[in-house]
Amino acid sequence: MKLRQWMSSSLDVNIVIVGCGIVGAAIAYELSQLPQLKIRVFDRQAPAQAATGAALGVLMAAISQKPKGNTFQKRLLGIQTYDQWIPQLEAITNREIPYNRQGILRLCFVGEDLDRWRSLAEIRHAQGLQLEICDRAYLVANYPYLNLEQVIGAVYSPSDRQVNPTALTLALIAAAEQNGATFHFDTPIVFKSPPLQTDSGNLTRLNTPTETIELDWLIIAAGLGSPALTASLQQSMNIRPVLGQAVQVVVEQPLGLPKRQPVITGNDINLVPLGKGKYWIGATVEFEDAETQSFMALHPNSDRLDAMMREAIALVPALKNAQVVQQWSGLRPRPEGRPAPIVELLTDYTNVILASGHYRNGVLLAPTTAKQVKEIIQQG
Ligand SMILES: Cc1cc2nc3c(=O)[nH]c(=O)nc-3n(C[C@H](O)[C@H](O)[C@H](O)COP(=O)(O)OP(=O)(O)OC[C@H]3O[C@@H](n4cnc5c(N)ncnc54)[C@H](O)[C@@H]3O)c2cc1C
Repeated sequence: MKLRQWMSSSLDVNIVIVGCGIVGAAIAYELSQLPQLKIRVFDRQAPAQAATGAALGVLMAAISQKPKGNTFQKRLLGIQTYDQWIPQLEAITNREIPYNRQGILRLCFVGEDLDRWRSLAEIRHAQGLQLEICDRAYLVANYPYLNLEQVIGAVYSPSDRQVNPTALTLALIAAAEQNGATFHFDTPIVFKSPPLQTDSGNLTRLNTPTETIELDWLIIAAGLGSPALTASLQQSMNIRPVLGQAVQVVVEQPLGLPKRQPVITGNDINLVPLGKGKYWIGATVEFEDAETQSFMALHPNSDRLDAMMREAIALVPALKNAQVVQQWSGLRPRPEGRPAPIVELLTDYTNVILASGHYRNGVLLAPTTAKQVKEIIQQG
């Protein structure tokens, strides 16, 4: 049943969300604020295990090189929403969500054009945002642990952020549950027989191996699991994996002053401060072999990880003596041949929404996706 129709009736609108990474959890939380919606979320494993469990939670909007436009606005809305959501979620759930509000420092290297950053800083200023261009003297004084040999300066973005993706996802789930949403983990959604559909492209129920689920809206937020689901609905969708490896290290002496702990990013490697001398370093970007195009062929490559660590140590020599306490990898869901993410109605269906393929920025974009999904349902 569509939301508008519901207004004039007393029936619930049944929403089924498949996938409980950051995207499914954000959609559940956003929709759970509409009391007329009965929300059920299904995941084949525990929450925040797939791409979300591997993510570093770096949120880049002002420092992204997109000067303006829709993509930039979506990034910005992500951070603006987290600035509101995170204190709300902490209060509602009584959980701490590590959220670094000290900004992002992006290092610029020999050969880069600082004037391009100066122009972007002017655009950001007109947008009410701040980007500060830092010279080497400033970096020497404020970040003495950096090796500046190849560095010509940096750009500091105070409004960008970093969040712990797992803590955030679990808090979104807890808050949505308080609003009445229900979560079903270790419950794969597999369309057993052709799902029932009316002539008008309205999917009315799903047959899973264990039950038949009545629904008014189906939201597919299953990351790399989404193409298999759309294939069962006779629609193809090409989302491919891009592997990322990352590590957590601990150093004896924390780097820099406690009050100056932005995420530091250089050559596409992030150094994410976690407090007490702990840091995440990541992540590699490893594509499938174009010929084999097989998930199985995409194993973490130790050479790539070693190269990333060498680059990190070249930038921050103190990391040479750091102890690696954790190492992991994850697969980013990347739409093939079209921009990320995919947030739209599935072709030929009036009540199946795709919210998938967030590639490298799913944590950043999850709130925007959740708002877009809400809009589609409200307009339905
Ligand atoms: C190493 C690494 C670093 C990253 N760093 C960042 C970062 O700094 N900032 C950022 O914004 N993004 C980052 N990302 C990207 C980000 O992790 C993803 O874009 C985001 O997590 C995608 O979220 P999702 O909920 O769509 O997918 P996922 O987290 O993959 O969740 C999909 C869920 O769907 C479930 N599922 C699939 N099929 C089914 C089915 N048939 N039935 C039931 N459940 C199903 C899965 O079990 C899974 O839990 C990083 C990714 C990696 C790998």
